[in-house]
Amino acid sequence: MKRSQPVPDFSKKEKIIIGTIDGDGIGPVIMDSCREVLGKLLADEIAAGKIELRKINGLTIENRIAKMETVPAEVLAEIKECDLLLKGPTTTPGKGDNLPNIESANVTLRRELDLFANVRPVVIPEKNIDWIFYRENTEGEYALGSRGVDIDEDISIDFKVTTTIGTTRLARAAFEYAKNNGNKNVSIVTKANIMKKTDGKFLSLCYDVAKDYPEIKTDDWYVDIMAANLVNDQINSNFNVFILPNLYGDIITDEAAQLQGGVGTAGSANIGGRYAMFEAIHGSAPRMMEEGIGHYANPASISRAAVMMLRHIGFTQQAAVLERALDQAAEALDMPGDGTGNTAAEFTAFVMERI
Ligand code: NAD
Repeated sequence: MKRSQPVPDFSKKEKIIIGTIDGDGIGPVIMDSCREVLGKLLADEIAAGKIELRKINGLTIENRIAKMETVPAEVLAEIKECDLLLKGPTTTPGKGDNLPNIESANVTLRRELDLFANVRPVVIPEKNIDWIFYRENTEGEYALGSRGVDIDEDISIDFKVTTTIGTTRLARAAFEYAKNNGNKNVSIVTKANIMKKTDGKFLSLCYDVAKDYPEIKTDDWYVDIMAANLVNDQINSNFNVFILPNLYGDIITDEAAQLQGGVGTAGSANIGGRYAMFEAIHGSAPRMMEEGIGHYANPASISRAAVMMLRHIGFTQQAAVLERALDQAAEALDMPGDGTGNTAAEFTAFVMERI
């Protein structure tokens, strides 16, 4: 963490390598769509050698289990040669899956690439909602997630971690965003009344950072009431920027995405110094695959992540074109993910026509 590198100046880079990773389950379906769209949108930059879309294979649950590595070493080496990643969802075996206890690939990638901030926008214009969530991405309950201890058959303990650098750099990124976007309100979300050490530290470090931004209204909330606030139409449009520890951020952002139209509709960015990784916020949807309806997966979420990626590297015009096409697709198409409505191929054709 102490050796973390600054964000590169992409305008000065001769070539930007975007690694694309399929992942598991519906991952290949949505990633094929996204690659096709980006191939058209960035055709000039690709032809000029400014951008390379590089497909990286091997980040599949089968390969990870065969190697018994969360992210196989040769895959990680390929990933580290890229500047950015656009990643499909990867399966993490859970209890009852009858698979080896292998850690989440995302947790490993976030740690290996030092992707400390998970940024998730949620916009619902008809309700005047314009939220952006800054979720801590490498610590909390996830830092030692697969290293809990069964004390005996009746007692199990997991661990939760908060560090000064981890929290401070996340809070700084959130306040900078708030300042650069019209001094939006910042709300810190914890359970510091119960988790006094870790959440208590997180809360007080966020307020330390807030002192450098006196023009921004900062408040704090417990995660349980914030879960209620988000569905309270009397007050939910008052919130703008949220700062959350890892686990609460995971849960609250899925709730927020559902309000926007479902987890298939939201993208997310994992921002670090040297690297950044962009992905859908949903998982690999194994049930859709088991039911044979994987081709109905909505590529909107990964495509929204691609919009965030284009903005991150300063391709704002292309980002706007894609965003407009996605807004039109959201209006015109029906993709509930239950095997009815439009397919991923229909979505792709719709977007390709409009970019
Ligand atoms: P999930 O997000 O994969 O799917 C839940 C349900 O949401 C699906 O059954 C489907 O009805 C709907 N859905 C999800 N994505 C959709 C899309 N693009 N289009 C239409 N409908 C969609 O949640 P889960 O079943 O809890 O997780 C499955 C696996 O994914 C687990 O192994 C989990 O660990 C993993 N996961 C990975 C990531 C990631 O790689 N970033 C994130 C979350 C979960």
